[in-house]
Amino acid sequence: MTNQALHEIDQKHYLPTFKRYPIALDHGKGSRVWDVEGKEYIDLLAGIAVSNIGHAHPTLVNAIEEQAAKLIHISNFYVSEPQMKLVEKLAQLSGLERAFMANSGAEAAEGAIKIARKYGHKAGRGGTIIAMKNAFHGRTLATVAATGKEAMMNGFDPIPSGFKHVPFNDIEALKEAITDDVGGIMLEPIQGEGGINPADSDYLRQVRAICDKKNIALIFDEIQCGIGRTGTMFAFEHYGIKPDIMTLAKGLGGGVPVGAVLAREKVAQAIDWGDHGTTFGGNPLACAAALAVLEVIESENLLQKATESGAWLKGKINALRSELPEIELIRGAGLMLGIQVSMDPKAIVGTMLKKGVLANATAGNIVRLVPPLNIDRESLEEALEIFIESIKENRK
Ligand SMILES: *Cc1c(COP(=O)(O)O)cnc(C)c1O
Repeated sequence: MTNQALHEIDQKHYLPTFKRYPIALDHGKGSRVWDVEGKEYIDLLAGIAVSNIGHAHPTLVNAIEEQAAKLIHISNFYVSEPQMKLVEKLAQLSGLERAFMANSGAEAAEGAIKIARKYGHKAGRGGTIIAMKNAFHGRTLATVAATGKEAMMNGFDPIPSGFKHVPFNDIEALKEAITDDVGGIMLEPIQGEGGINPADSDYLRQVRAICDKKNIALIFDEIQCGIGRTGTMFAFEHYGIKPDIMTLAKGLGGGVPVGAVLAREKVAQAIDWGDHGTTFGGNPLACAAALAVLEVIESENLLQKATESGAWLKGKINALRSELPEIELIRGAGLMLGIQVSMDPKAIVGTMLKKGVLANATAGNIVRLVPPLNIDRESLEEALEIFIESIKENRK
């Protein structure tokens, strides 16, 4: 079928909630994808920071094929080797002893909120969660409330209560918001949808200290910034502190839907038998995929690759600023980068698409680059040329 024909079906039968680019993607390999008409694209989006090891990686494909032929699903009445190996691995990597496997980011965030609330009540504080302005935690009702963005809540009330929002990186505002009923503080160490805003080191260390002092559960949403994205397995490693609860999803399954909530033993103990559950979450197929992704990140040194490629890109973009005054700055870590421009980033992204590069625009005039961690240098060079041309062609 053609791009056009598939879009006609989208217009007619899909819930009208997405405004999609006029192509239909068919297959991929590494950092490249092809549409149904055979046009090739360099993928700087990776399905929104999901395909961290690239498309059709043989280790991942084999793991999925083998597991699918063996056992896809069993319910959480039983354990499986992939699920047990995965939770053990996640505990080793993160230092957070307990895991609960979910199917998506929002579902992991819901789980994190529930654990923090239960912990808050048991600690004699309460279930109020402080979250950050410009955050993004998902599209279910509680995670929309945690996100706190008016445009996402409008028309959907009653919205779950018990969330307060403070400006990100503002320690005084946070201190002021901490009343006796606050049981959790939730934040992204590097805000993704909010425009690739990293937390300040000093700020995050102070937040940790406050949570320790007051016995408040600190939740890091690493759904986008985790799984090697920033050049460390988890973004919190850049800061020398650890959360009490952490959510993962996007990059974890390499595209197979899977999410996780991890928690310190002490906080996890707030959960009693029957407090939470899921049918699909952590099924053998999803866990086999996640194990393969973690194995590839380690065996192919993708943390180092992401660090090097990110530093190279930052250097290139910074050097371009004299020639292209539209580029205001580049921020982020590893391969989670945002280029702030003084023009409409959507126009740039639209032209890039026509010229064969996938990227996206996010809040605050940001062109977001979150390519596979193993993207090759030639692809980055080619994409950068197209980015430059796209800025020039959209100059007023
Ligand atoms: C994408 C994202 C979510 C939501 O994940 P879904 O899988 O879309 O539900 C939550 N938090 C952050 C930081 C995200 O980037």
